Amino acid sequence: MNKKIVVLGAGESGAGAAVLAKDRGYDVFVSDYGKIAPQYKKILEDEGIAWEEGGHTMSRILDATEVVKSPGIAKETPVMQAVLKKNIPVISEIEFAGRFTDARMVCITGSNGKTTTTLLTYHILRQAGIDVGLAGNVGKSLAYQVARSPHSTYVIELSSFQLDDMYSFRADIAVLLNITPDHLDRYDHRMENYVSAKFRILQNQTPQDAFIYWKADPVINSQLERIKVEARQFPFDAIQAPGLAAYIDENENMVVTTPDGSLTMPRADLSLNGLHNLYNSMAAALSACLLDIKSSVIRNALHDFEGVEHRLEYVCDVDGVRYINDSKATNVNSTWYALESMNTPVVLILGGKDKGNDYSEILPLVRKKVKSIVAMGVHNEKIVDFFSGEVPVTSTGSLDEAIAAARACAVAGDTVLLSPCCASFDLFSSYEDRGRKFKDAVRKLK
Ligand code: ADP
Repeated sequence: MNKKIVVLGAGESGAGAAVLAKDRGYDVFVSDYGKIAPQYKKILEDEGIAWEEGGHTMSRILDATEVVKSPGIAKETPVMQAVLKKNIPVISEIEFAGRFTDARMVCITGSNGKTTTTLLTYHILRQAGIDVGLAGNVGKSLAYQVARSPHSTYVIELSSFQLDDMYSFRADIAVLLNITPDHLDRYDHRMENYVSAKFRILQNQTPQDAFIYWKADPVINSQLERIKVEARQFPFDAIQAPGLAAYIDENENMVVTTPDGSLTMPRADLSLNGLHNLYNSMAAALSACLLDIKSSVIRNALHDFEGVEHRLEYVCDVDGVRYINDSKATNVNSTWYALESMNTPVVLILGGKDKGNDYSEILPLVRKKVKSIVAMGVHNEKIVDFFSGEVPVTSTGSLDEAIAAARACAVAGDTVLLSPCCASFDLFSSYEDRGRKFKDAVRKLK
């Protein structure tokens, strides 16, 4: 009997999985509860793949031998409840694609820093002339690449939602950057479930594989005490200590040591600033050394990497004030790292859709570095209440008002930092929309 694959959700990963499944001779049906974007509809049409949108035909879905589920669909949805009740195996697109390739897999996860580290690693590998593909949450789906433009190595950004539905997939190099509470609504509000999902990146690893992680993360450490790791371990941290594979030495050099390659370079030569980006650079450099890339290539690539849009992205100077777009900082931890990296007085634009933030985490840095806060959002009360008495706080209800208020507080030598701690959905359609509108408005000030 021909295997029947049902793909739930037709975004980048779903459309790619459908193409791969069709290529490999499976009977494929794609079902999306919402509207399918025109570019994916076109792919499905061109490939002659059966699809539906705006609802699910349950009889057809429950006839599947296997379901490939988009990471965006929660297991609580009625369709998933029905699939699970019928014990139909559910896998992610990455798991599915992994069955059809022997490529080397460099997989990156963590609560923060995934995209930056993934793009930086990809940049180094490209500079080294490796035949490498970029996949996961960034770039083209792994499945589509495996089907139509295969590479011998992939750098893959993995969210916990993708990891949830991975079983046999094996990472040659697994990177775990950090674990802080996030998306707990999808994990029955249990931190241990979220931690277990992140640690799935280690499953199936053998002693030939590598596990790179941040040694100072308390959550990672406590989990490591509980489990057995098969892979070789490469911990990193900013402060030199025994057993670290990457650290900063007493001369402010980044030192990276692996059995396959080593590297030393001045910290000041890294293109990405801030402590968090030091960690990201260490993780990328460790992966590159383990892939036997020449240290001169790694050094150059870490130096000339241009950064990632909306992550501590320099916009321009206006009247001697530096404007930085960190719109991707949608939780308190990200803003902590953004503030940590600042070395001028800061006017901080904060606010949006609060996900239950505890601002006390950033209070010490606010006291030390922030001269003024501009709250930007539909509901600013929590921010105003929390920070009033600590620093001056101005409440604004639009981007234009926020920029005008920030400009009024800043003097030459200051930095205006948009690092909102919050999701964007009250005033914007996404963090990208917020970041782009911020950049456009700031550039108009010139
Ligand atoms: P992700 O893909 O995991 O969301 P990004 O690379 O897009 O991560 O970075 C998101 C935000 O997280 C950045 O704006 C930055 O402020 C913060 N960040 C980046 N790297 C780290 C890290 N290693 N540790 C903590 N925060 C980080």
